[in-house]
Amino acid sequence: MSGSWSMVFLDVVWVVALTTGCWLGVSAVVADGPRRVIAYVVTAGLALLIGTALPLRYFLLRQRREAQVRESLLSLESERRQFETRLVRALDMAPDQHAAVSVAVEAIGLLTPTACGELLLADSSRAHMQVAGATPATACGGACHCDVATPSGCPAVRSGHAVHYDDSRLLDACPQLRGRSDEPISALCVPLSVAGSTVGVMHLVRPVGDDFDDRETTALTTLAKLVGSRIGLVTAMAQSQLQASTDPLTGLLNRRSLENEVRPLLQEGLTLAVILADLDHFKILNDTFGHDAGDRALRTFARVLRQTVRDNDLICRYGGEEFVVVCPGADKNAAAMVFERVRMELSAMLNDGRHPPFTVSAGVSDSNDATTLAEMVSIADTSLMKAKADGRNRTVVFDGAA
Ligand code: GH3
Ligand code: MG
Ligand code: MG
Repeated sequence: MSGSWSMVFLDVVWVVALTTGCWLGVSAVVADGPRRVIAYVVTAGLALLIGTALPLRYFLLRQRREAQVRESLLSLESERRQFETRLVRALDMAPDQHAAVSVAVEAIGLLTPTACGELLLADSSRAHMQVAGATPATACGGACHCDVATPSGCPAVRSGHAVHYDDSRLLDACPQLRGRSDEPISALCVPLSVAGSTVGVMHLVRPVGDDFDDRETTALTTLAKLVGSRIGLVTAMAQSQLQASTDPLTGLLNRRSLENEVRPLLQEGLTLAVILADLDHFKILNDTFGHDAGDRALRTFARVLRQTVRDNDLICRYGGEEFVVVCPGADKNAAAMVFERVRMELSAMLNDGRHPPFTVSAGVSDSNDATTLAEMVSIADTSLMKAKADGRNRTVVFDGAA
């Protein structure tokens, strides 16, 4: 019976009692005289008090308890909303996948402080799962880590929704949990989706007995949803940024991004050398072997450049069959030696008979010859023309005399 119905019931009791009392009182005065009437009234009053005060007390206590429960539910709900707002803000500030994963790991620690958790993400081929982040392994020692190797090997990823395992010893426990530790453990696995496809899983472990409740499952499911969306967004952003800054055929920097990379180096006053390389008789290669073979040759040369120059050198497809390599901290003679190595590596790579043969010529300048990248490239171009005129397949260093 609800609180309001209880009050109606009590009101009815009072009305019936008062009506009966009045009727009995009038009948008693008529029949028994005033003394008996007082005794009746006192007895009836006590009976009424006992009959109504006890239920009334019970109903009032129950109402107070219900109010307390409502209040604590409201406060939990407001805490949840506050946490979600903070989480959304923290994820909005995460510029890349690594930062989003760090936020997720911190949130796991706050939502389930007595569990240990890790975030496993599929690699770009979606063939392997790797740990992207983990909370400190305090709760279960070495039992925190899940060894699942592929997304399809994870039952939670396959099912597409949160899966809870009460006890690693039970028949229907996840195969990845069985035998993981001497102590029985419970686990909660929540898949992580990006644009509708599952790309990873949030994996939490606790000793058996300290079970994951519905509130935690809901909170972690929301966390997985938010983290998945953020990872999807930052990955898409990074991809479009990469596409905008690289040449699609070779994956090398394009001219605009090379200029952006070099500008701060020049502002720092760093010495740098510029190599302008151009494939020799490339038109003939295209005409003889076809445009696809020409594209393969461009990719092969890009690979040789990547494999041969230093990691901090900047490699760019400057346009068509022209490439620019910027070597920070090097002068033009050092850069020319680097390019001689490139020519040798290229020749070795083309020796296998699987590629149409081609050579490359280069002109080299450095920041002592000019102050801007465009000027250095233009000066290197004069040396490149000399290399072509001298018979191609060679490197010419700008000597200031062109
Ligand atoms: P040189 O030794 O004097 O540099 O002669 P070359 O034939 O290399 O120079 P030319 O400027 O006459 O021809 C460049 C050729 O490069 C013409 C063009 O079709 C080809 N080319 C430019 N970009 C691409 C590309 O993306 N793919 C392919 N396959 N060919 C390209
Ligand atoms: Mg050219
Ligand atoms: Mg050419």
